[in-house]
Amino acid sequence: MEILVLNHAEVEVLLPMSDCIRVMGEALAALARGEVHQPLRTVVRPPESAGLMALMPAYIAGEGAVYGLKTVCVFPGNPAKGKDAHQGSVILFSAKTGEPLALMNASAITSIRTAAVSGVATQLLARKEASDLALIGAGVQARAHLAAMAQVRPLKRVRVASRRPENAARFAAEMGPHYPFPIEPVDSVESAVRDADLIVTVTTASEPILQRDWLASGVHLNVVGSSIPTAREVDTATMAAASLFVDRRESTLNEAGDYLFAAREGAIGPEHIRAEIGEVLIGAQPGRTSAEEITLFKSLGLAVEDVAAAAYVYRQAQTGQVGTWVVF
Ligand code: NDP
Repeated sequence: MEILVLNHAEVEVLLPMSDCIRVMGEALAALARGEVHQPLRTVVRPPESAGLMALMPAYIAGEGAVYGLKTVCVFPGNPAKGKDAHQGSVILFSAKTGEPLALMNASAITSIRTAAVSGVATQLLARKEASDLALIGAGVQARAHLAAMAQVRPLKRVRVASRRPENAARFAAEMGPHYPFPIEPVDSVESAVRDADLIVTVTTASEPILQRDWLASGVHLNVVGSSIPTAREVDTATMAAASLFVDRRESTLNEAGDYLFAAREGAIGPEHIRAEIGEVLIGAQPGRTSAEEITLFKSLGLAVEDVAAAAYVYRQAQTGQVGTWVVF
């Protein structure tokens, strides 16, 4: 038996953002149609460790049926050492025999698929003319989200804010030459989001960094950073004011600090969740209903996203003869 091993650079080449946005739309629609089997992720969080390990398995039914498992370690101190905070692998298994098919770099899959899912949500929920983006955070996910937002909306201006202004400035200087619109570093979250019609939060903050009274009417938010129950990026008033869309209800009720803190304060309950993105994709639920509505996509990250992205990468690698086959 042989498996295909794909490294970070190979995954990046095989998974362009535009392709991944399409693949994520298909995966979330399959989830909404009941074609995906996926338990909540298991998180191993030893109190003495500087990080955690999450296990994210899924099975996707249909013509290209496949099992997959992402094993990802999250070490928030890594960026200070020049390493991605998310480290790990995605393994694909045959749905016919259970044999391992491929092993690939999970840092690349995670950054691209997360931003691509926000791309799908933005395509569905942001106003068509949204073009003024506020990017909060200047790390790995900020870079991928800039690429995704530029794919789905005609951006004219981007403001970026980070905890340390010098990081926002570095991000703007690095990214500016790659895009045809200005990328402006600003020194506070408030200056970034005032009058923006598209907001992405991709920080490691655990307390709210964003307040309701800074938001313009009709804005769409992708709230991505706080993917654990003990952290949130937006305040309770924002959660209550927004029409809330999620990747998965079960995950939101168990894992989303942005939802859980606001719910504990009595401001919202499960009925506040308007729809899963996949339900909007298949036409089972409406998306935005007015130009004034504030829409908020709470992203947690799902195993089906990793497995669908990995299955696509595996197919592309075989077509393009990329990667290394290893006897296993
Ligand atoms: P990085 O460490 O690369 O970047 C984090 C960024 O957050 C840094 O720019 C940091 O600023 C900024 N930041 C931290 N605190 C604040 C604050 N209080 N105000 C403003 N900016 C702040 O992380 P990643 O980009 O890899 O990940 C970002 C977040 O997204 C993480 O919490 C991660 O767990 C989450 N995530 C969510 C996924 C999902 O599917 N929903 C998938 C993958 C990641 P500075 O550098 O200036 O200190």
